[in-house]
Amino acid sequence: MTISEMSPAAPAEREASLLASVPTGLLIGGEWREASDRGTFDVHDPATGQVLATLASATSEDAVAALDAADAAQASWARTAPRVRAEILRRAFDLVTERAEDFALLMTLEMGKPLAEARGEVTYGAEFLRWFSEETVRDYGRYLTTPEGKNKILVQHKPVGPCLLITPWNFPLAMATRKVAPAIAAGCTMVLKPAKLTPLTAQYFAQTMLDAGLPAGVLNVVASSSASGISGPLLADPRLRKVSFTGSTPVGKRLMADAAQNVLRTSMELGGNAPFIVFEDADIDKAVEGAMAAKMRNMGEACTAANRFLVHETVATQFTAKFAAAMGALTTGRGTDPETKVGPLIDGGARDDVHALVSAAVEAGATVVTGGAPVDGAGYFYQPTVLADVPNDAAILGQEVFGPVAPITTFTTEQEAIKLANSTEYGLASYLYSRDFNKLLRVAEQIEFGMVGFNAGVISNAAAPFGGVKQSGLGREGGTEGIAEYTTTQYIGINDPYTQ
Ligand code: NAD
Repeated sequence: MTISEMSPAAPAEREASLLASVPTGLLIGGEWREASDRGTFDVHDPATGQVLATLASATSEDAVAALDAADAAQASWARTAPRVRAEILRRAFDLVTERAEDFALLMTLEMGKPLAEARGEVTYGAEFLRWFSEETVRDYGRYLTTPEGKNKILVQHKPVGPCLLITPWNFPLAMATRKVAPAIAAGCTMVLKPAKLTPLTAQYFAQTMLDAGLPAGVLNVVASSSASGISGPLLADPRLRKVSFTGSTPVGKRLMADAAQNVLRTSMELGGNAPFIVFEDADIDKAVEGAMAAKMRNMGEACTAANRFLVHETVATQFTAKFAAAMGALTTGRGTDPETKVGPLIDGGARDDVHALVSAAVEAGATVVTGGAPVDGAGYFYQPTVLADVPNDAAILGQEVFGPVAPITTFTTEQEAIKLANSTEYGLASYLYSRDFNKLLRVAEQIEFGMVGFNAGVISNAAAPFGGVKQSGLGREGGTEGIAEYTTTQYIGINDPYTQ
């Protein structure tokens, strides 16, 4: 029976029984255990503020114990046949898919996103397990003759070694599978530290990985109320070989500085400030549809969220009216309610930050076309908002909004649009709308973003290399590039076989 088929009374029981089935301990060496100091922290529902669960809070000592387990498992895991690793990932894909309703509900409860979106994240997140199960057996090296024709070159990929994986709160499943799956594919062991605001999905996912047959010690999970208490000792430990981080740019910079001490491999998926450019020849209805997806996925709490709407002056009035009508029609509510299109923001601080950016933009001369205020009552809801005439120097155009707010500004020439798009230290996602394919390609050549959508508001896909340039980060997740983040290259020079 699916959630929607249950009687109105049943969902509360269903939520309680699901929450009761989530492991609350630390996963170290294949066993769930308490924190060494028996410390705990609470996880809340952002739609109600109520406590959902209480988890063990890992200490620095627990983090080192998790690395002990990862280090102990590394050598045999690296020697495990690729087919065996691939089949564990494939079983994990099947199990996550079987448990899709559980994962979706957990994400809605701890993060707030509407159930339909949470189901979409399960599909997207699970796909990394299937994609990397296929990549596991196709990580090719090469064998060639040196140019002068005498000797041979053999190149092979090896697992980089034990990794620290740190994930954010906004996509609790997908951000974990995007790291865990390629690490498994490459033969690495790992310590995963999920965000303290939304760790329940990662706990449930870790149990699912054990159920799929992942050997003890390969994946260790240390949720904690002190992030630096985990990362500090691990980054300083010479057994750790890599850190993969998804989160904000300031934290990423700090981790890179710490990682430099042991010259660790780093993958950094950091913040964004995506431009959404609507050219004069765009299909406006398609652009509005794309804008809704690019802006409102996850209530705007996404690194890929369209953050700046740059619209050609000749179509700005039409685009703004249609976009504002669509935004104004969205229903705000708890994500478990089937009518809900927009859930709460993650906490009160996040909502205050969004409102401060809106207020400052209005003070600087922006017009509120729809929304513009927090929603009264329980939970951290904010009205879907469209702002027009936003001055180019307004703070809201310079930083991640991370909320359901769309600031619109206009441009006249293609070069002006490119200049505006590039006027940010970020370079993650970007979106272009036009019917002229040559123009789209010409602009893509000139904008400094790791990802560009052509007439598309959603571009994330497990088969595509996700990542940014500039201060949006280093490295790629997904695609054929994803596994390379977890391998190191070894070259073997072979003396002329004819003289042996
Ligand atoms: P955050 O940087 O506050 O936290 C991310 C993770 O880092 C969490 O697990 C947190 O506990 C941990 N952390 C925080 N301080 C730390 C420290 N000093 N040492 C070690 N770990 C620490 O980010 P957030 O608020 O959880 O997530 C939102 C941010 O993530 C946004 O900037 C968003 O753009 C970015 N993000 C990027 C991508 C991407 O793929 N580029 C994807 C999702 C989110």
